Parts: sequence; C-alpha cells; structure tokens
Amino acid sequence: MKETIMWGAFEQMRPAQIEAITASFPIAYLPWGALEYHGSHNPTGLDSIKAYGMATDLAKRAGGVVFPVVHAAANLISSYPLCDFKQHSIEFSEELIRMMCQEYLEQLIKQDYKLIVLLTGHAGEPHIDILKEVAAEMNVTHPNFHVWALAEFDILPDELLVANHSAIGETSLQLYFAPHTVALDTLPLIGEITLEEHAVSGADPRPATAAHGKKILDAFLAKATNKVEELKKSFC
Ligand SMILES: [Zn+2]
Repeated sequence: MKETIMWGAFEQMRPAQIEAITASFPIAYLPWGALEYHGSHNPTGLDSIKAYGMATDLAKRAGGVVFPVVHAAANLISSYPLCDFKQHSIEFSEELIRMMCQEYLEQLIKQDYKLIVLLTGHAGEPHIDILKEVAAEMNVTHPNFHVWALAEFDILPDELLVANHSAIGETSLQLYFAPHTVALDTLPLIGEITLEEHAVSGADPRPATAAHGKKILDAFLAKATNKVEELKKSFC
C-alpha cells in the first residue's frame, strides 16, 4: 500500500511530491516572521524561527505544505517611541506588508490551496492587524477558500502566553526550537529587566526554559489542530 505523505516543505519538494500532499491536504502554512532586535539574549530571527517551527509542527499533525518563512515585518522595536534599539532590525513599510500579504495569498489561492494558515510570529501593531485584515478581505472575495490568520497567543490562555517581545514566552519557545541561539547569561543576574534597557516587553525572561516552551507549543498544537480539522470540513 502506498504511504500517504502528510506534509512537506514547499521549497524542498519536486512538483510530484507537492501534489502527493495537496491531493489529500490542500493546505498551505505561511509562517510570517521578522528580522528584529530581540535583546542581547535572543537572535534577530526569533519571530521567524518560532513561526516556522510552530507551523511545521502543526503541518505534521494536520497535513499540508509549509512555505518558507517571510522575513519581512513592519512596526519593529526600532521604531518604538521609548526604545533606542536602532541596530539589527530590518523594517519594512506597512504598505509593503499589506501588498506582499495580498499577493502571497492571491497566489496560494490561484494554486488551489483551499485553506491557508498564516501564522505570524511578530506581534507589532498594526503589522499583525494588517495581516488579519488582508486575510479577512480574501475570505470575502474568495468564499470557497479560507485564510486563517493568527498569532500563536491568540488561541492560548493568558496564563500560558500573551503577546510579548523577548520575554519569558518567546525566550522559552526559542530555547525549545533552537537552544544554541539563546544566551540568557548576557542578561544581568539581578535587577529589573525593562523594555528601555533590555528590549524585553513582558515577563522576566531569565527563568525561561525549553520545557516551558514545549508546554506552550503543545497547548498551541492541540488548539490549532482542532481548528484546522474544523476548517478542513468546510473548505477542503
Ligand atoms: Zn518576537
């Protein structure tokens, strides 16, 4: 019996391999990241690594094709009013993000992906709202297709994860996905961790662990898999 292939990375597959997946799982995962200063303790690609890791793990459960991460975001920490972190962020305009999102989604729909999961790892505003607005517009103009645009914290309880920048949530996920990229020892051992000084928005990242990251990921996967299975019934 031929084994059903459930998922794969788009850029690493030949056409027949992509079609073997989309025949049963016409689902595209579009992880949307950022290149953004994430303090001394995390790499600039945290949002991208997080979104790609979570999207891939979701595809392994729900089936579909994972697209390469889009390393382009607006509303980075480099333009926060109180922050002085101008280095190590590559920031694009809101107009470009809107256009890129529209064109990307249009092409995925043209290629007949029935369900598109757009997972953003970057939560700057209005960057995140722009992605969700474009998805909502597509859902009106293309009623036979569906785009589900979300950030990972949208479907998790606040006590587990809220929107944060390089705080305990993001740092724990980074420790889970790529532990060699994190250097918690670059943060001071004592004293307060702040946005202005350490580029951290949210709870103290110093107690972050890979185990906590795994707990966040597992809760995300449980919720997101259910939602994709629901959407499959209507659109796939
Ligand atoms: Zn981030």
